[in-house]
Amino acid sequence: MTTEGLTTLIPAEKIAVRVAELGAEISRDLVGIVELTVVCVLKGAFIFAADLVRNLTVPCRIEFIRASSYGTHRSSSGRVMLDHHHDWHVEGKHVLLLEDILDTGLTVTRILEELRGHNPASLRVCALLDKPSARATPASAEYTGFTIPDVFVVGYGLDAAGRYRELPYVATLNA
Ligand code: 5GP
Repeated sequence: MTTEGLTTLIPAEKIAVRVAELGAEISRDLVGIVELTVVCVLKGAFIFAADLVRNLTVPCRIEFIRASSYGTHRSSSGRVMLDHHHDWHVEGKHVLLLEDILDTGLTVTRILEELRGHNPASLRVCALLDKPSARATPASAEYTGFTIPDVFVVGYGLDAAGRYRELPYVATLNA
């Protein structure tokens, strides 16, 4: 489908099915834990996180971290900035890091390094999207929604210079 300069890559219905599957899989793997600390990486993962946590059956505490590397450009700046002027509350906790997309892998690597320094009981990554061909550093997620080619995508939380986050589907921008 092509709408106003966008081509749908993953329709909303397909995302909903996959997010429910991820929620069920994560809940199965973590059954019996007292509490899961979910860390949502802002801004891009906010919609994914909102939908995913409602598909989890384990008790959650939800935290947010802001990471940025893109600015208004469409390729990674290679420099990851984290806002971490807050308490992590992850010592001895089971932690699930929620990312919108694994691209170069630099952001997730930087955040994992930060989280590991706070001694969590366990640490897992769940990314809605994965672009394995774009890696600048080895990085992977325990749970992945969709593997996509190395194309710039928007929607379902992902932006282009602040636009398109509200779209219920994932799309590519037409040239
Ligand atoms: P990294 O390159 O560090 O793996 O990804 C950093 C961040 O860049 C992601 O969390 C995401 O916010 C942004 N990013 C990477 N690929 C894309 C893309 O195709 N579209 C959009 N809108 N953002 C992306």
